[in-house]
Amino acid sequence: MEAVSSLHRRSARIVLDWSRKVAKYLVLKARKTKAAIAVEELEKLWHNASQKSSTLADRLSKFAYRKLLQAIEAKAVEYNVPIVYVDPRSTSKKCPVCGFPLRYWHRLAECPKCGFRADRDTVGAMNVYKKALKAIALSPGSEGSWGGDGRNPTGPRSAYMTR
Ligand SMILES: [Zn+2]
Repeated sequence: MEAVSSLHRRSARIVLDWSRKVAKYLVLKARKTKAAIAVEELEKLWHNASQKSSTLADRLSKFAYRKLLQAIEAKAVEYNVPIVYVDPRSTSKKCPVCGFPLRYWHRLAECPKCGFRADRDTVGAMNVYKKALKAIALSPGSEGSWGGDGRNPTGPRSAYMTR
């Protein structure tokens, strides 16, 4: 038991170190390019999923996700980079180009309608990006934290908060 808990502590420390490094890299990159960071609210999915799958790998990946998100949030506040939270539902199910339901062969997705092809993670990232743009467009100037100079109203750049 002692060995197991020490292993847990060690993996937790590795995850924390990794989270801080990734968060810093992402936030500094976003700040440099005046971009916002879009994240999927995976917690929502887990909350809705009734099956309690709690293998060690599963718990560790959730732990890693939470720690990474916390690290990104902390860094984003520190550097004034906006975060857009996106509903994680069906981010890999629909074609990011035309919205048609995708067909999958293992991790490769193909759109039967427009012929778009990509890896599952790429599809997810593209759809999260699209949802984030939509969320930004739907909340112009809300919370007073988004940039309001009115120029170039498309893309996350225009949503960068003014400092
Ligand atoms: Zn398509």
